[in-house]
Amino acid sequence: MQRSDISRRTVLAGAAGLATGAAVGLGRASAAPREPSAADRVTAITHVTVIDATGAPAKRDTTVVLRDGRILAVEPSRRIGVPAGAEVIDGRGRFLIPGLANMHNHTFDGEAIEPPLHIANGITTVRDMTANDDTSRWRREIEAGTRLGPRWTVGSPIVDGSPSLWEGLGAPYIAAATPEEGRATVRAQKDAGADFVKVYTRLSRPTFFAIADEARRQRIPFLGHVSDFVQLTEASDAGLASVEHLFQIWYDTSSREEELRRDITAVPIAGGEYNGWLNKMHPYEYAAARSYDRHKAAGVFARLARNGTRVTPTLVLHTFTDMPGDTPMNDPRYAYFPAATREFWAYALELIYLNGRTPEQDARGRELFERRLSLVNDLDRAGVPLLAGTDNGTSYLMPGFSLHDELARLSQAGLSTMRVLQTATVEPARYLGARDRGTIERGNVADLVLLDADPLRDIRNTTRINSVVVRGRVIGPTERQRMLADVKRAATAMPVPAQPKAATCPC
Ligand SMILES: [Zn+2]
Repeated sequence: MQRSDISRRTVLAGAAGLATGAAVGLGRASAAPREPSAADRVTAITHVTVIDATGAPAKRDTTVVLRDGRILAVEPSRRIGVPAGAEVIDGRGRFLIPGLANMHNHTFDGEAIEPPLHIANGITTVRDMTANDDTSRWRREIEAGTRLGPRWTVGSPIVDGSPSLWEGLGAPYIAAATPEEGRATVRAQKDAGADFVKVYTRLSRPTFFAIADEARRQRIPFLGHVSDFVQLTEASDAGLASVEHLFQIWYDTSSREEELRRDITAVPIAGGEYNGWLNKMHPYEYAAARSYDRHKAAGVFARLARNGTRVTPTLVLHTFTDMPGDTPMNDPRYAYFPAATREFWAYALELIYLNGRTPEQDARGRELFERRLSLVNDLDRAGVPLLAGTDNGTSYLMPGFSLHDELARLSQAGLSTMRVLQTATVEPARYLGARDRGTIERGNVADLVLLDADPLRDIRNTTRINSVVVRGRVIGPTERQRMLADVKRAATAMPVPAQPKAATCPC
């Protein structure tokens, strides 16, 4: 590889806007040299095919230079040299994509399991849907550079109405019974450092809209489940940043909306009835899905798109709840989870999801899932931004691994492989307002995944991970395998509990 003047200028031009006074290579402006950290070493990934996630075609034979945790250059390999002293990663035959994001996570397992599994699976951004002391601490340590892990965005506890579906179930939640309590909750959560307020299913109309208004005043996003008493379009007009799962999309898009809304409003739901809610609402959700009105849906989706309301389909969650009987029992990836977690999964599957289930329910579940796939395709075609998320914490959904299953499901829904990739890269970055993330462009944060196979050919190739780059730190194949082995060892060493640790899923 020739080191030409052109390449040096290109690289320096990139460096100028990024690191003041720093030249590429090992030279540094400071008179007092310090030990170079992994992050400010220069790395060049050479002759790689770059899939930058902007929607542009793949760029073959490209060299990507990284320094100080940033992308310094993305140039055809023939036009750029490798800076002196750079660590070189041969990208020949490989594919470089931006780091992935899981936009619907719940932290369930400990520090030995979750952060390394996200990273080993190429996930460099996580949106956690419920406040959690562990996650908040990890986030601080990751920001400070003392822990390796994804960038974490963490919401408030679930803010539900009263009685809440979560009463007595052991998961953190806030019950806001009145508009005043709703407003006070928004202010308190903002003060507590929540990145957003997560609204939930049983909020009354006045409280839901009070939260929406207070969130706007306090400039904090609100998102989550649309209340049973509010239309999705109303919530979107009120500023809902993202709607989670596909449960609440059917009613607005049904030709029978008025009648079905009257019905669901009248369904008696007691405190703590998380699963009761799922079961009691199911017939109405099914009826709404079967009366899906394409013309009406087009109007709803245009409104979501105009308002910038995102949809996080969590198809892997729906796979599990619609077709629990199909859950594989022998997935080798389960070995990365402690016995306590696996027992909880099996317990919830048997006692909650399969208990008393009829063949008719199975058939309906299958039909509903097919309809969900086509709904996701309609949303995408209508220009509603979609976010990839999984709802880890639900049985058999796995931090790290399940995001790749979600991408495969989105592909099954008919999205192009590029669109699927964007749901986990550029769309989350846009949603988070992070202009320097989500794509492979000069100046962006160096969060990257190097793949051994082409994800545009088959999205399942996002699992063919060679290396992961987090803020410029390269985790090569050996280190990545060691991380995975450490997780497995830690999971195996965790004690088997006498009792399953929780009774339900936290979606
Ligand atoms: Zn959830």
